[in-house]
Amino acid sequence: MGDNAVGIAVNRAKLSITRGDITRQATDAIVNAANSGLMGGGGVDGAIHRAGGPTILEECKQIIARQRRLPIGQAVMTAGGNLSAKYVIHTVGPVWGGGGKGEATLLASAYRESLKLAAANKLASVSFPSISTGVYGYPVDQAVRVALEAIILFLQKSTTTVKEVVVVLFDSRTFDVYSEALKEIESKEK
Ligand code: ADP
Repeated sequence: MGDNAVGIAVNRAKLSITRGDITRQATDAIVNAANSGLMGGGGVDGAIHRAGGPTILEECKQIIARQRRLPIGQAVMTAGGNLSAKYVIHTVGPVWGGGGKGEATLLASAYRESLKLAAANKLASVSFPSISTGVYGYPVDQAVRVALEAIILFLQKSTTTVKEVVVVLFDSRTFDVYSEALKEIESKEK
């Protein structure tokens, strides 16, 4: 792999990171770092709704009509509209409040619940953005550990259908932090 992609094997599955725009990923599902209202927004949320078209928001509205809001750390799924991905898994990460408000537990839950939903729908491949590290202010150097650990713990369960997880990093600084962390994990495994 080149400088813009790094990957490790976890129990017959592959976890990799790449730089780019998640709306262009052709995995079975892409994960949206949404908010509890599921009405779209800025950042990756806005990009997914723009690229995927209005059917995604229509489905989100139906979900909100049923359950009022999507709690932090939970996940729901819609179709992918015009995206290459067949599905969008919408999850909500925590807003950073200094680290003492259960942020790490909630962030881990957002990754785990998204993967559980993918597996429940027998999906093989899922792409994630760096949840909470944009507008929600979670420091990337702390979020990366939570994100990678949650994904690895999930993949270590031999029962999952998920065989490929890609974390798609939009900017080079975030990519570099994830890249270093994944290389560190890889070197510890050897
Ligand atoms: P949050 O509100 O959870 O912090 P943001 O969308 O503000 O979500 O940011 C989360 C991460 O997603 C940030 O690293 C941001 O740079 C990144 N991002 C923004 N647009 C895209 C995109 N099209 N593809 C992948 N990542 C994106």
